[in-house]
Amino acid sequence: MTKKVAIIGSGNWGSAIAKIIGMNIAKNTTDFDQKAKMWVYEEMIDGQKLTEIINTKHENVKYLPGIKLPENIVAVPELDDVVSDADLLVFVLPHQFLPRLLNGIKDKIKKDAVAIHLIKGVFFIDGEMVPISSRIKDVLGIECCTLMGANVANEVAREEFCETTIGYETQEAGEIFFKLFNTKFFEVTIIQDVTGPEICGALKNIVALGSGFCDGLGYGGNTKAAIMRIGLKEMRGFAMMYSKTVVESTFLESCGVGDLITTCIGGRNRKCGEYFAKTGKAWDVIEKELLNGQKIQGVPCAKEIYEILSTKNLLAKFPLFHTIHRISVGELEPKEIINYKSVNN
Ligand code: NAD
Ligand code: 13P
Repeated sequence: MTKKVAIIGSGNWGSAIAKIIGMNIAKNTTDFDQKAKMWVYEEMIDGQKLTEIINTKHENVKYLPGIKLPENIVAVPELDDVVSDADLLVFVLPHQFLPRLLNGIKDKIKKDAVAIHLIKGVFFIDGEMVPISSRIKDVLGIECCTLMGANVANEVAREEFCETTIGYETQEAGEIFFKLFNTKFFEVTIIQDVTGPEICGALKNIVALGSGFCDGLGYGGNTKAAIMRIGLKEMRGFAMMYSKTVVESTFLESCGVGDLITTCIGGRNRKCGEYFAKTGKAWDVIEKELLNGQKIQGVPCAKEIYEILSTKNLLAKFPLFHTIHRISVGELEPKEIINYKSVNN
């Protein structure tokens, strides 16, 4: 039996990954159903529904303009319709929208469906960090893999070569998702570590804000490299402390150091961090001015990690994360980033 794929989310990354899924299912008639439904949070663009635009123009004109989506990707506004008959669920939306969505679909999905998520964030529930894969697994009762990597969506959509990492629990799930995502220009490595990639994916967004502060202040490559290195060390320290299943070698995969570098050079968090350091504007204003409906993940993530560390009395072990959070909430000036060792004492 071929597997039906559902894509839950249709933003910048959701649309880029839909392009890859559409291309790959068309080439693999043995494993995959020949249409994939993509859930679109409906909105009106110049008086027309975004779903209708996607299904007629085959382009997500708001979140991924200028890129054609394969015609086997069908935009659907009703979530139940997208998930109810799917064997493979691909979650790719800003993490703040996930909890409500999961509760809404938990009784609608197939019991033997398998999930993968591409979401860079974590949850903070009852004083504890909850990785997104755990949340999906707990609420839906199904396996959940992770796909994380150095993957700025616009570059992937233009088919510029890059790598990515899929973390799996069972080999079978890792292999089917390898077939769904791997292409010549999007080279997938599968590893038996679900949590390591997703913690890296969340934490690098905090470091990317710091990298943006450096750009906004006019600092050069050496300073940025220092922020990236210290950031990587804190990412590793946090991940190893929080999960016994995280594998050390994960940090050298695309989801680790690769993603950190690309986000600190070319991501939206970096761009918004730079603008914040230059203008001091509020984050919601920056998001509106620079991102046209897309979301900055680093600011809420820095707050969530701060809350986790503060609850556990561990802030002193992660001075860079702490400093970036304090800068992002206006407690410190962006220039204090280089005083991360002393400024919180
Ligand atoms: P995005 O930033 O483009 O987010 C906008 C999306 O949120 C749109 O699809 C919009 O319709 C939807 N939305 C708005 N309000 C909503 C609501 N109330 N309920 C549900 N959805 C709503 O999204 P993205 O770039 O696709 O990012 C999704 C995830 O992928 C994030 O965790 C991000 O960190 C990660 N990621 C992004 C990139 C990238 O380059 N864009 C690359 C890798 C990973
Ligand atoms: P931004 O959300 O900062 O653009 O990062 C994109 C990304 O995760 C690249 O891998």
